[in-house]
Amino acid sequence: MTLPRALRSIRTRLTLWYTGVLLVILLVIGGFSYQVLAWSLYQDVDASLVTVGRVIRDTGYASSGAIAEAALRELLGPEFVDKFFQLRDPEGNPGGASASLRNRVLPLTPVARANAARGWPTFETLILPGGERARLLTLPVLDGGRPSGLVQVGISLARAEDALHRYLMVLLAAVPVGLALAAVGGALIARAALAPVNAMARTARRITAEDLAQRVAASGSGDELDYLAETLNEMLARLEEAFGEMRRFAADTAHELRTPLTALKGGIEVALRAGRSPDEYRRVLEESLEEVNRLIRAAEDLLLLARAGPGRGLARERLSLEPIVVEALETGARLAQGTGVTVRLGEVEPVEVMGDASALRRAILNLVENAVKYTPAGGKVEMMLTRESERALITVADTGVGIAPADFERIFEPFVRLDAASATPGSGLGLAIARGVAIAHGGTLTLESTPGAGSRFTLRLPLA
Ligand code: ADP
Repeated sequence: MTLPRALRSIRTRLTLWYTGVLLVILLVIGGFSYQVLAWSLYQDVDASLVTVGRVIRDTGYASSGAIAEAALRELLGPEFVDKFFQLRDPEGNPGGASASLRNRVLPLTPVARANAARGWPTFETLILPGGERARLLTLPVLDGGRPSGLVQVGISLARAEDALHRYLMVLLAAVPVGLALAAVGGALIARAALAPVNAMARTARRITAEDLAQRVAASGSGDELDYLAETLNEMLARLEEAFGEMRRFAADTAHELRTPLTALKGGIEVALRAGRSPDEYRRVLEESLEEVNRLIRAAEDLLLLARAGPGRGLARERLSLEPIVVEALETGARLAQGTGVTVRLGEVEPVEVMGDASALRRAILNLVENAVKYTPAGGKVEMMLTRESERALITVADTGVGIAPADFERIFEPFVRLDAASATPGSGLGLAIARGVAIAHGGTLTLESTPGAGSRFTLRLPLA
């Protein structure tokens, strides 16, 4: 079931909840206080009935069956107001009564009669002839342990019930007014509390991929909403950086592809400008094929780079690293032929990891190719495959030109090539791919290097 839109707003729901809870609290408090008031009013009524009854009993009026009402009024003072009484003989036959009863006889219930026979007083709420509700005390009078008469004292409940009724009216008027005030106050508080959320939503709506520089306004108060604003802003900053990186990457890629395409176009145009011998056409076609091969390799590199992110389509199978390392070593040795660089295999342990064989082959090959490329004649390249606690370690160390510490992180970015590399062929994607593959496998690729003395790249992968 979906709620109407107005009820879905947190502000409305908060106000409704708040008012609902307050209503329950007011009802409980109101009901309880009404009960306490009623109980204490009846207690007072009963206590004053007892006072009057005892006075009548103790003055001896009860045994005489006749009463001097004026003397009683004198004796009891304000306690006597509103009261009426009735005297009876031990058999229950009515005797003297107060003038205020106007010849009516107070009823004697069987319960009161039975209690009196045992010497007990009885309190009752009765309806008198004439329809008036009254509280009645029936008190036995004992003379030497024997019943010698009954005193009945009554009071109309009109005053006490009026007071209760007025209290109920006050409650019924005050509760809705209080609730209305609380609802308005609650709605205002909720609106004030949620205002920053609305402001945030408005800003967030304005933010687009083209305009990620905008930020959500944070109050700086350190409260939950401020924390939310900060979190959103941090996310925006990361998105802005990622988008910037993507844009740079797209521009660099376009640039990288344009160079061989321009060369290709130039060669073909020159060949077409005049009639050429079959040998000349063959030469142009061979040169073009070389460029096309470079383009294909660049496209493959870009594809691998795109796939080398967590969960982006690399296989995960159990594989032994030894053959991959040996294969890369053989390729490195072939590349080094005639350059005066020696490529050798150091310590090798059998190690298995979970991963994508072709991606790992590419990453390791990139490291070996770099080591050979950036090591002058007479230098050495050494590969090792070992294990360290829960990790496989592939090390490629060379005695080449080395890398300045300031460039340690930069060279892993796509298309970054250092000055020393300008004379050697390369796209600048090799290390970016190698690190991407390492991270996609839950591993790392790190570098130690001394400029002029050599570099050591270490690929760490979790063991299978
Ligand atoms: P490239 O295609 O230029 O080799 P890479 O991403 O593989 O691209 O490497 C980036 C840059 O890092 C290289 O251009 C080079 O300047 C530097 N580099 C990489 N490996 C080495 C190494 N073993 N010794 C010295 N410099 C290196």
